[in-house]
Amino acid sequence: MTESILGNEWYSERYFFKNVATSFKIKSVLHSEQSKYQKIDVLDTFALGRLLLLDGKTMVSDKDEFVYHEVMGHIPAMIHPKLKNVLIIGGGDGGIVREFVKHPEIERIDLVEIDERVIEVSKTFFPDCTSGLTDPRVNVLPQDGVEYIKTHKNFFDVIIIDSTDPEDFAAGLFTQEFYHHVYEALTENGIMMAQTENPLYDEYGIKSFYDNLRNVYPVVKSFTGPMLIYPGVFWTFAYASKGLLPTQFNESKIPFMSMLEKKLKWYNMDWHKGAFNLSNIHKSVTGC
Ligand code: SAM
Repeated sequence: MTESILGNEWYSERYFFKNVATSFKIKSVLHSEQSKYQKIDVLDTFALGRLLLLDGKTMVSDKDEFVYHEVMGHIPAMIHPKLKNVLIIGGGDGGIVREFVKHPEIERIDLVEIDERVIEVSKTFFPDCTSGLTDPRVNVLPQDGVEYIKTHKNFFDVIIIDSTDPEDFAAGLFTQEFYHHVYEALTENGIMMAQTENPLYDEYGIKSFYDNLRNVYPVVKSFTGPMLIYPGVFWTFAYASKGLLPTQFNESKIPFMSMLEKKLKWYNMDWHKGAFNLSNIHKSVTGC
């Protein structure tokens, strides 16, 4: 549970039971609106460049968005043997779509974002993040992911859950029932990925999230990547699959990725190979 304060000079987010705060000095407030779902603010900051807030919480910044978006896109893309159809639930900033469209074998990418104002604001203020949305393979669907997931069975090869915290209209994306629908929507080699908070603060009880995944998926792993804008920076992600291990590279993609990784800011295959070797605390908090 976080609480944020948007002052004239500083933006602060309080977390870990409001005992810790992170602040970023503001140059200006570039945009502010109340959509049908949430408050949407875009700040220009000295340290991060532009920063997107939803209901006062940090979502995306120029400075570190590539970490989150590259790991979510290229880890599954390097593993899946026949990647065709991808579903992203949430992700209205477009950053994950931008990474998936770099893979020519993908035929369809559905972006199911409940709040189309997030997409429109991101197009204006985060044009690099949204640069993949015009790709002809991309379907931008302003719908509720909780409902959309029920409309497809055995269809998507990769499903990424990139939502806001488990509250209000996002809460339905964190239930056992939803994970069951995700499993059913995935093909036989399906992979699902989601962010899973900070294991040192562990404010939300991360183990229960991974236990829920282990009730559904035979393979459940975790890895970490730093996110300056998230509480405590030490951020974790879940990889869950119907059988494919997260370091079982699709050999035929190695030549392509050897070229692509040179243009990426975080992801490379050497990092990927080591990313799932966890520290003791990461293992104990996630059970991976
Ligand atoms: N990467 C960011 C993070 O980890 O905090 C989140 C990126 S994205 C901006 C989160 C998006 O999830 C928001 O735009 C929000 O509107 C969307 N969202 C929340 N609940 C949703 C739902 N039930 N269906 C579809 N999108 C949803």
